[in-house]
Amino acid sequence: MAANATESLRQLKRHMTDAIVIGGGVAGLSAATALANEGFRVELFEAKPFWGGRATSYALPLANSHEAEIDNCQHILLKCCVNLLNFYGRLGVADRIEFHREFYFMEPGGRTSFLRRGLLPAPLHFTESFLRATYLNLGEKIALARAMLSLRFERKRRKDLDAITMLDWLREKNQPARLIERFWRQVLVSAINVELDQMAASHGFQVMWLGFMAASDTYEMGIPKVPLAQLYQSAFKNVVGHERAIVEAFDPERGILVDGTWHQARTYISAIPSDRLAKLVPQLDIDYAAFEPSSITGVHIWFDRPVTTMPHGTLLDRHIQWFYNKGEGRYLMLVISASDSLLKMQRQEVIDLALRELTEFLPAVAEALVVRAHVVKEAKATFRAKPGLEAKRPISTTAIPNFFLAGDWTRSGWPATMEGAVRSGYLAAEAASAALGKPARFLLPDLA
Ligand SMILES: Cc1cc2nc3c(=O)[nH]c(=O)nc-3n(C[C@H](O)[C@H](O)[C@H](O)COP(=O)(O)OP(=O)(O)OC[C@H]3O[C@@H](n4cnc5c(N)ncnc54)[C@H](O)[C@@H]3O)c2cc1C
Repeated sequence: MAANATESLRQLKRHMTDAIVIGGGVAGLSAATALANEGFRVELFEAKPFWGGRATSYALPLANSHEAEIDNCQHILLKCCVNLLNFYGRLGVADRIEFHREFYFMEPGGRTSFLRRGLLPAPLHFTESFLRATYLNLGEKIALARAMLSLRFERKRRKDLDAITMLDWLREKNQPARLIERFWRQVLVSAINVELDQMAASHGFQVMWLGFMAASDTYEMGIPKVPLAQLYQSAFKNVVGHERAIVEAFDPERGILVDGTWHQARTYISAIPSDRLAKLVPQLDIDYAAFEPSSITGVHIWFDRPVTTMPHGTLLDRHIQWFYNKGEGRYLMLVISASDSLLKMQRQEVIDLALRELTEFLPAVAEALVVRAHVVKEAKATFRAKPGLEAKRPISTTAIPNFFLAGDWTRSGWPATMEGAVRSGYLAAEAASAALGKPARFLLPDLA
């Protein structure tokens, strides 16, 4: 009888789903895809009716019963995002990312400087661009070169980079205020989504090093050519996806509870944000309060005529940090990172501010009519990557032997980005594969 019971249990386990992944954002999708590629049976549960979490797209009604599929916000990557590119490769969509080799730094009035690689090898490949740049004066350029050298030297030597802010470090290096504002803040706040006086210097170092110094092509900016949700469609060839499936409870014995039914698997991966996990599995020893949210605001504007021929631009000295040309110069997407000051503003106030500022850089905006404008305020866009937080980010394994963690807020080695989310997904998938008795390696190392 006992032998029969053991055999039945073995049979049951043999037919059981290998892994249930909770949360269909980039972290959950990448964990599920990686495991499925290794032949594991995977089910993915997502609360919303669409995939991609914070990196997604949806239909927005336009005039005359037309609609446009828009990204919730422009998502870009750099060529140093090797795991994200690997994930897109697994999905067969790597060719839907277009890489841009030029950044355009625009001053109010429209004067534009290019940042592009020159003839010198890394880390000197931007020397020509910086020498020509009009938005910095000679003293600022010399100060920038000094700081870049220090960064290269100190990045592996200094032990306090997670204890100080990026602004502390820049002040230590006597960086002029305008240089901080026009270069360091412009680049790093867009990448890490927290102001320099709150940003752990370790994150600022990582972005600067990997994106701008380690190799001459890692800065190239990847922009998806299709709406974000379209990138994930092929994930479900081998993964069983459940949309509109809110996981209400988790129990190590019974599994996950969705709409009154328990679903069991041999392993579980949570790929949901920290505040959701705090409610779902409160018994984990995680300092959830340490993960404070930081906002991003996106403004989509459709004009009645083209207002630019540029593909994108970073706008200096104003609230708006970036514009992206999403369609023939008529549809622009504007992005403001670390946008807490805008959260309190009314929708129309944000649009008015955006148009006022944009006119200073793209004069054609003054003549154009706005056909449609849409504001997306993401109050919880990312966590604030403050000094001291790194040690509090949980690793993928937990005290529950078959329960693993992913999500951009876990200890991925990167700030809250799509690359960080994929890294966390791959790490959790590696841990789950080991627990399933068939260890696999998914994570690719950083380029340098
Ligand atoms: C406006 C904005 C702009 C950004 N720009 C960039 C950029 O340019 N480049 C970049 O690299 N990164 C960018 N990011 C950051 C990037 O989007 C995130 O770091 C990444 O998408 C996080 O992925 P994730 O899977 O960890 O979390 P999420 O995307 O939050 O996914 C978690 C998923 O879990 C689901 N969920 C939650 N609770 C449950 C439950 N109980 N049951 C089932 N499902 C549940 C949620 O619905 C969600 O889909 C941006 C973020 C925002 C908001």
